[in-house]
Amino acid sequence: MDDPHWQRLLQVAGIAPGEITLLPYRFLRTRGALLCFGPQETYLLYDDRLSGAALYRVLAHELAHYRLHGRTVYFDRKQRQAEEQEADRLAAQWLAQIGEEAGAG
Ligand SMILES: [Zn+2]
Repeated sequence: MDDPHWQRLLQVAGIAPGEITLLPYRFLRTRGALLCFGPQETYLLYDDRLSGAALYRVLAHELAHYRLHGRTVYFDRKQRQAEEQEADRLAAQWLAQIGEEAGAG
């Protein structure tokens, strides 16, 4: 996906273009997106049925995990919950920032 919203999202997230590869994917269960780590690469799989604001919300959430927690693998349930909330907060900040720039539309 090479659209200006994705590029802008990376920019506000402070992530270099090309640092994360975006891949459309059909999840078997309902799930918006998922970060996957190769030895060198980072992939962000996203459900190809999502679009518009719903898509950017899940992408921003995953990028926030990446910024906050890097390549963390979760084992502790409590820790995981805290990290989900942190990611939600940061993603909301970024989306608000982009929304304000876009104006009322
Ligand atoms: Zn999450």
